[in-house]
Parts: sequence; C-alpha cells; structure tokens
Amino acid sequence: MSKLKELKSIYKLGAFEHELVRFQELGSISCSAGTYPVHGFSIGSQKPESPVLGVFGGVHGLERVGTHVTITFLQHVIERLNWDKDFIRFLEDFRIVSIPLINPGGMAMLKRSNPNNVDLMRNAPIEAEGVKPWQLFSGQSISPKLMWYRGNQDKLEKENQILVKFVQEEILSSRFAMSIDIHSGFGLQDRLWYPYAKTDQAFPYEQIVKNFEKSLARTYPYHIYKIEKQSDSYKIHGDIWDYLFDLHYNNRNDNYYIPWTLELGSWRWVKKNPMQLFSVLGLFNPVEQHRYNRIMRRHILLLSHYYRIVNNYDALI
Ligand SMILES: [Zn+2]
Repeated sequence: MSKLKELKSIYKLGAFEHELVRFQELGSISCSAGTYPVHGFSIGSQKPESPVLGVFGGVHGLERVGTHVTITFLQHVIERLNWDKDFIRFLEDFRIVSIPLINPGGMAMLKRSNPNNVDLMRNAPIEAEGVKPWQLFSGQSISPKLMWYRGNQDKLEKENQILVKFVQEEILSSRFAMSIDIHSGFGLQDRLWYPYAKTDQAFPYEQIVKNFEKSLARTYPYHIYKIEKQSDSYKIHGDIWDYLFDLHYNNRNDNYYIPWTLELGSWRWVKKNPMQLFSVLGLFNPVEQHRYNRIMRRHILLLSHYYRIVNNYDALI
C-alpha cells in the first residue's frame, strides 16, 4: 500500500456508497517508488449526453495542492449526497467526473514529470507555433535529464493514455461539457486559462468564454480569477488539453467541450513566505496553514459556479 496520503484520501472518498457514485481504478503506474493506482470518479447521470463538469489534479507531481483542491471539492460533492435532495435531483441529468491524481508516480518520487521523466503537459503530438528553440519550458526533446522533456510523440505516456480514455468515455459525448485541470507554480494571481496553448490564433469558442467571464463577474462580483487564453502567458508544445479539445472539436456534432486550466499563482505564497524557496515542494504549494485553508475553501465556490453554469449552458451559447 502506498505511502501517499493523497491516495488514502481518495480511497476514503471512493468508499462512500451511493448509487450515484462510481469509483474505479483506471490503471496503475509502476516506478522505483512502487506501484500506484490512478482513480476516476463519475458522479451522477450515466447518460452520455448529460452535461458534464470534469475536475482534474496532480498532472505535475510537485503540485500537490491541485490534487488537494480536487479532493476537497469531491468531498463537498459527496457529502451533499447525504442530505441535499435538490442536488441529488440535479445529478439525475448532470455528471461530475474527476481524476484527482493523474501522476501518482511523479508525486511519490517528488518530481514534476512522470517516473519516465516526461512532462505530461508537453507530451501530446502537437507543435506550438512560433516557439523559440531556447524556450525549453515550452517543451524540449533534447534530454530526459532536463525539465519539460516531451517524451515520444508517437505514443502518449501511460498516464496520458488513461486520461484521454477517461475523457473520451465520460466527457466527449456530452451535449455541453467543461473541465478544469488544477496546477500551481506560475504568477502572482490565480489564472483561468482556456485553449489554446499552442497558438495565438483565436479560440473557436471565444464568445462562450466571454459569456462565461461575464457570468462569473456578475454572479461573484469580487472574484479573484484572471481569465485569459493560455498562450497570452506562454505557448507550449504538446498540451494534452489542446489535444483533447481538437479531438472533440474536429468530430463535434452540435455539442460543446471546453477544457480549462486553473493555474494557482504560487509566487504570492513564496513572496509572503520566502523561506519556501528552500523547499522543493514549497515553490508549488502553500506551506502556512491559514493560506492552505484559504485555498482549500475558496475554489469550491468557483467549481460550484462551473457546474451551475454548465447545467445552464443556454446562457453561454
Ligand atoms: Zn503544472
């Protein structure tokens, strides 16, 4: 059994018995630190066409906070099944799906990459436009010993294969779906990124994004999020959400899917507590308890807005 405390929390949530909760092991990852399962949750309607919200965490092994926010949100959702009749009715034609820890091997080995040293967010077969060769952070094929290694573009890493299959089965047949993948480590502010990461060209659903932005600003007037296209911050090769977006968009059939990334601005935590710089996890995770608690509670509001607006998607299209 693993020593990862995150996996213990995931098992605990998965043990909750309710006809609306489906918890399964999607695959497992073997590495020098042991063998680790990857779990998926599918909560609510099993109709393929129902609207869906997906929440994902732990793509980068050092960014534990993304997995923790995902687990906290799942805890909130599952607890409401105990007492909230309105919420249970809502889930009759809505699905909340999640993989809270996509890269358990990396997390166990204290690495951003997966155990093969591949950066899972640079691994898809997509070349970004206009990236200079010195921009190694956009993904590099020079050496697995350097960060941001892209791996083999002919074959996705196992973690990404699991993710792609799960998204295909749980999300891509939905009439309207959004997903959020939670990361940390860039900037001072919490950012909500929409595609593309590969190009400055306009995103096909720019108007839906604008309507979403308006709905968030009006429903939660003092919210903290900066909404932008990912390429406004930086462009990367091989973004798995660009890949999944294109896969859906090129085969769409009057249905919609928008994958988002929530990038928690960890530089602010470091600025307030510079000693964090001396810890490998401190750059990507809040260390002080009050800051950790604030992060755990604040994003539940955001994720709740997501599932409400996705269910009322007429307001966006
Ligand atoms: Zn990340």
